[in-house]
Amino acid sequence: MKSEANVGAVIVCAGKGERTGLAYNKILHRIGQRTVVETVTDTFIAAGITNIVLVVSDPDRAVVSELVSHPSVKLCLGGNTRAESVKNGLDALGGDCNIVVIHDGARPFVTPEVIAASIKSAVEFGSGIAAVPSIDTVKRVKNGVMTAIPRAGLYNVQTPQTFRYSEILAAYEAVGADNSFTDDAEVYEHAGFLPRLSLGDNANVKITTAADLYKVLPADARIGVGFDVHRLVEGRKLILGGVEIPYIKGLDGHSDADVLTHAIMDALLSAAGLPDIGVLYPDTNDFFLGISSMKLLSDVMKHIADAKFSVINISAVIIAQEPKLAPHISSIRESLARAIGVDRSRINVSATTTERLGIIGSGDGIAAEAYCLLSENL
Ligand code: MG
Repeated sequence: MKSEANVGAVIVCAGKGERTGLAYNKILHRIGQRTVVETVTDTFIAAGITNIVLVVSDPDRAVVSELVSHPSVKLCLGGNTRAESVKNGLDALGGDCNIVVIHDGARPFVTPEVIAASIKSAVEFGSGIAAVPSIDTVKRVKNGVMTAIPRAGLYNVQTPQTFRYSEILAAYEAVGADNSFTDDAEVYEHAGFLPRLSLGDNANVKITTAADLYKVLPADARIGVGFDVHRLVEGRKLILGGVEIPYIKGLDGHSDADVLTHAIMDALLSAAGLPDIGVLYPDTNDFFLGISSMKLLSDVMKHIADAKFSVINISAVIIAQEPKLAPHISSIRESLARAIGVDRSRINVSATTTERLGIIGSGDGIAAEAYCLLSENL
């Protein structure tokens, strides 16, 4: 890098990450010990950039500012479109820099080398757009008919994309809130400039879907199983998965006797190699008398997070002769997903009877069995 280059960076983290199926923005997903946003910010700091703006959405602002606290980093709020978010980032950077690196927060595997190559190109030629030669054969399709596009010269474009600050700022000012541009290079080109290639890296992938999270992140899956039975008695509420089910009887126990949540907690703890709920929350301790099992589930999730695991999915079955549970399954899944902090698509619950056989079939009790899959955050 030439000595006159004064480099700033805008890292766009304002997306919602809905396609990952996570209940939180994917930039807050943990890779090993650190979240995506910490990983990517650390790489920019390692690349020697001392003026970094993270563009975040309002709901993530507090947690990101706690995670990434560094004198080189400041936060600004995103806009309604990616173009607005980048523009806000450029404004927040101010006129202190003459070169700006723009990067997607969802590309945590960028290296200082790729950033340096992008900056070098921008210093020399005005821009440096990270891209890699296209491996897949790309075709143009119209009305179901394919036309070949020669692969020679085709590149898959990534970020970082680096520009002269004044030029990219002018280009963004010209497009306003127009959201039809897919990347910064297109905005730059639209303003009459020539985007210039700098070599990216095949490992510099963008996390878009849930599959990407498990494909690209070091994950080791662990299975767990949990089982529980409680007696049905009169004069108690029937609570399953934190949801009160209208019925003439309820489950008896030291806590609220939420048999489904108990089975799920044991499945989670078992997968993580931790002691079961009988050990963690003994019925000899009056503190747990009548306690909501959802409170215990929140505590279990802290243990799971401390042990560096995250939930891939949970599958559970409630075994009850009565009452009919089908109308309540949806709210039970919702309640559990909220407590566990994952999308409801990752929690499934079914219900069955025992055809009036045995202690369940006679209506003396309700049982639940749960399996879970955790991924180890290495
Ligand atoms: Mg129990």
